[in-house]
Amino acid sequence: MKASVLHKFGTPPTFEEIADPVCGPNSVVIELKACGVCRSDYHAWSGSDPDVKLPHIMGHELAGIIAETGSGIKRFSVGDHVTVPFILGCGICSDCQTGNSTICDKQKTIGFTVSGGFAQFVEIYFADFNLVRLPCSLGFETAAAMGCRVTTAFRALTDRACLLPGEWLAVYGCGGIGTSAILIAKALGAKVIGIDINSLALEKARDLGADIVLDSAKFPNIWQEVRELTNGGVHVSVDALGIEETFQNSIRSLRKLGRHIQIGMPTGNNANVSLALLDLIYSRQLKVIGTRGMASSGFSSLLTMIDEGSIKLDSLISKKLKLSQVSEALSQFGKRSEAGITIINNFSM
Ligand SMILES: [Zn+2]
Ligand SMILES: [Zn+2]
Repeated sequence: MKASVLHKFGTPPTFEEIADPVCGPNSVVIELKACGVCRSDYHAWSGSDPDVKLPHIMGHELAGIIAETGSGIKRFSVGDHVTVPFILGCGICSDCQTGNSTICDKQKTIGFTVSGGFAQFVEIYFADFNLVRLPCSLGFETAAAMGCRVTTAFRALTDRACLLPGEWLAVYGCGGIGTSAILIAKALGAKVIGIDINSLALEKARDLGADIVLDSAKFPNIWQEVRELTNGGVHVSVDALGIEETFQNSIRSLRKLGRHIQIGMPTGNNANVSLALLDLIYSRQLKVIGTRGMASSGFSSLLTMIDEGSIKLDSLISKKLKLSQVSEALSQFGKRSEAGITIINNFSM
């Protein structure tokens, strides 16, 4: 098969011919039809994700057709159209059995601890438990756009932060995951402030329905502006980037009893932020919530909202590329000039 293989961190992956994956008994092999390119691929590429071992195939926002099933697979057949969460729970442990496979101790992560979707075929482990069947109305590219960013943002705002209609939400970082959060928050009936330093990203945020967009470079203390605009602070604030500055600004933007939700993945130096805000967390009685991915069991309510048209994912897709152009897609994250989601939709060239 053709694949985009990373041989050295920080260098362009090579588009090359390699052996097809072998299908294990509890696995399926998917023929890729679409795969998103996400900021966490950028972390994997740059070497800042300790889970990634070389040589490696990245890509974790995928959709395609089942090409082969292992002998133990009961719920799916060759030809089924599917997508899958990037965190593959074992399906057996108590966390998986209670719908919490994102914290499964035996989890495999597609495109990080195991090979991902920047290839013509990929093996999906624990497939009966993790695969999600695509409704006929949902195309592969839209399903890939749902990927890690939309599903993560959906679970973050619904299940974790419990965002309510009419509440104010601040989104720090309007890249793929931030714009996903904006789209979902609007569908949930919240009022949204999108914050970034990239004018393209702010434009995208406005297009997706953000009520207010702010260029944080124009304010000495962006959180102060957010607190003034919302009469005392937002109810929920998202750090969609995972760096100290957005984390601190997010916490400072909250009103009393507010909820900060950490969606952006902190890596490298950003993994150690100072908790100089402990006094705020105490005095304003804030909640600091972590979130990562979404279990396959969470997909049905998101799929219903997409099917009803209240979440329009097509508006998130800004670029479609060939598998050989993965480097081009990754380079945008380094420049912080991304707006919307890039999808790989041609895997043979
Ligand atoms: Zn991702
Ligand atoms: Zn498990």
